[in-house]
Amino acid sequence: MKQLNASFITSASGKDSWPELTLPEVVVVGRSNVGKSSFINALTNRKKLAYVGNTPGKTQLLNFFDIDGQWTLLDVPGYGYAKLSKSQLEKMGKMMDEYFEGREQISGIVSLIDSRHGPTKDDLDMIEYFRHFDFPVIIVATKIDKVPKTKRLKALKDISQKLHLPLKKIYPVSAVEKSGLEEVYHAILDQIGL
Ligand code: GDP
Repeated sequence: MKQLNASFITSASGKDSWPELTLPEVVVVGRSNVGKSSFINALTNRKKLAYVGNTPGKTQLLNFFDIDGQWTLLDVPGYGYAKLSKSQLEKMGKMMDEYFEGREQISGIVSLIDSRHGPTKDDLDMIEYFRHFDFPVIIVATKIDKVPKTKRLKALKDISQKLHLPLKKIYPVSAVEKSGLEEVYHAILDQIGL
């Protein structure tokens, strides 16, 4: 796969700290612990671009990364982490709504689903939320190496059925084995028209 040139731009909590950019933005979302940081690091071939194994829910800001000077990847807080206080959750919800409602250059969403568990209620709610905005969504099934080979097809079919999407639209990846990344990369470029 082509080596991506990724660099951190900034973290933002609200509109006044969003970077002034016009490039297309692709937002990577998923439940806490789904493997989001590992996926971002594997995709960009960087060890520590995003923080792995952080206390779940700790990364509570929008993190903007420049990719090849051509598009922006956003790492947003993982959802579904029960140990956040009500006020922390509310603050995070507001930050996300403000971003998704107000950022014009959002060009797509990469929604991560754990291959072993399939979509949770939270995952389904989030995907429904993005569909309501009409954002195109790429579904990535994470940690596929943890599913025995004979059960992988069934796991992916299960995700495709629950999301009402064709099987070929579900992209299995392993950050450990570094598999499936190129396919996701091309799907992203396709989505943003590059
Ligand atoms: P995040 O909370 O969504 O950012 O998830 P992390 O990237 O921090 O990963 C959560 C845990 O899952 C860590 O212990 C990772 O090492 C592990 N993990 C992430 N991706 C993979 C993968 O593709 N395969 C396996 N086997 N483990 C993974």
